[in-house]
Amino acid sequence: MGRAIAACVLAERIATQLQKRVLIVEKRNHIGGNAYDYYNEHGHLVHKYGPHIFHTKSKPVWDYLSRFTTWRPYYHHVLAVVDGKKVPIPFNLNTLYALFPPRYAEKLEDLLLDNFGFGKKVPILQLRESSSGDLAFLADYIYNNIFLHYTQKQWNLKPEELDSGVTARVPIYISRDNRYFQDPYQAMPQQGYTEMFRRMIEHPHIKVLLKTDYREVINDIRFDRAVCTGPIDEFFDYVYGEMPYRSLDFRFETLDQEHYQEVGTVNYPNDYDITRITEQKYLTGQVSPKTTLVKEFPQVYIPGRNDPYYPIPRAENRERLALYLKEVKTLKGSVLFAGRLGDYKYYNMDQAVTRALGLFEKEIARPLVVS
Ligand code: FAD
Ligand code: UDP
Repeated sequence: MGRAIAACVLAERIATQLQKRVLIVEKRNHIGGNAYDYYNEHGHLVHKYGPHIFHTKSKPVWDYLSRFTTWRPYYHHVLAVVDGKKVPIPFNLNTLYALFPPRYAEKLEDLLLDNFGFGKKVPILQLRESSSGDLAFLADYIYNNIFLHYTQKQWNLKPEELDSGVTARVPIYISRDNRYFQDPYQAMPQQGYTEMFRRMIEHPHIKVLLKTDYREVINDIRFDRAVCTGPIDEFFDYVYGEMPYRSLDFRFETLDQEHYQEVGTVNYPNDYDITRITEQKYLTGQVSPKTTLVKEFPQVYIPGRNDPYYPIPRAENRERLALYLKEVKTLKGSVLFAGRLGDYKYYNMDQAVTRALGLFEKEIARPLVVS
């Protein structure tokens, strides 16, 4: 169910390793889940559901996906507009010098180096808790100018109302490395994500049913096992209430100019209703006299009205999730759950692949024992 990354990995594994037949049921009219990309009317490869940059620490994930695509090396760079200046994100030593007078920046740099050491990554909430004096001033400055309003726009919550891991995704990095990610493997699929997924599921045992909600067909299909990569609460008819998600509205614009901004993404923590603008050609490497941008407008998620893009990681939601996970146990392995919506976890693409590969090895490659 669901024709996204986790579903494609599972289908590929089941078809090629177990020689079993797989039916993928997807309610949208295309493959790839939220990593889907396509060529727009200007010939620009764009990511329909927001910018997707592949990065991972996992060699097994990299090797696995490399069977289905070649890669274009790409290091993502992000600037944020702060105090009218565009400064590097994650906040690093270069950001310090871009925002403060040189003498004071030097003082702050020394304090960061003394307290944490070169090369360390410090989440903003940790920096705020552990600092005093000038470092406390710096922590408050970063919190107020980079994290607070961006997070309120994106999640409708303050940073401390979310699991600390959310803002820790973009830590203060005590280095001069301006790249958004430091993973050893960072690249874009050369022919795009959709083509990579198409190759994964190109197998006589794999069939795909598009534009179909699995709930419409589940009672008409005979199957040994199902894997749900759609929302876990939807599967159980919201018996314990809705799991909250955040949605986004993506607005695309194509401009009659070669470039719009200096790097792939510019964040707007404090201005406008958007969180960020991404210029697609930086990610894809396409050359064109025009350029396509995508602006992200965060939205409240309303079932049936828009899409659930982000599970919201915080304690009260984990409590509700635990109730659903108890229900999963009663299914005794006949239905498994995976992916960002099925697991209700803020996965990156590589984590969704790891989860699917793990589920295959641990649960699916073994025969189902019903007691
Ligand atoms: P998803 O991509 O979540 O797709 C779920 C699929 O299930 C959808 O196609 C949906 O239509 C289908 N579905 C839902 N309900 C039903 C139903 N009832 N019946 C049938 N089908 C159904 N990750 C990165 O690694 N790098 C990035 O730069 C990055 N950027 C992102 C930017 C944005 C704006 C977003 C939203 C996500 C980003 N991600 C990024 C995360 C990435 O999208 C996910 O990790 C990945 O797509 C998760 O895949 P998945 O298999 O869980 O399914
Ligand atoms: N964040 C922020 N300001 C920024 C960048 C990120 O406050 O300039 C916070 C915000 O809460 C965001 C989270 O860090 O949701 C994770 O950012 P990331 O870029 O990883 O988000 P994603 O690409 O998953 O939307």
